[in-house]
Amino acid sequence: MTRFFLLALFFGLVWRSLGRLATSLPGSPAAPRGAEPTTPVESLIACGCCGVYHPASRMLGRGGDLFCSEACRRGEPAEAP
Ligand SMILES: [Zn+2]
Repeated sequence: MTRFFLLALFFGLVWRSLGRLATSLPGSPAAPRGAEPTTPVESLIACGCCGVYHPASRMLGRGGDLFCSEACRRGEPAEAP
């Protein structure tokens, strides 16, 4: 019984040290806690004509409203395929 306990303890310690080693390697997928996301987040805005959300940088403006495409800006939303 003691042998089984020592064997379980040994494998537990090996498992734990391997987990620490995997997170400390450079390029490991685990990000450090509290890290900021590296990609900038762009807000989505609803089109004033069709209501579909698009990135703010791709919107077209007219009279204070924002539209997703030239057709929506003219007030003629494209037909769904
Ligand atoms: Zn639209």
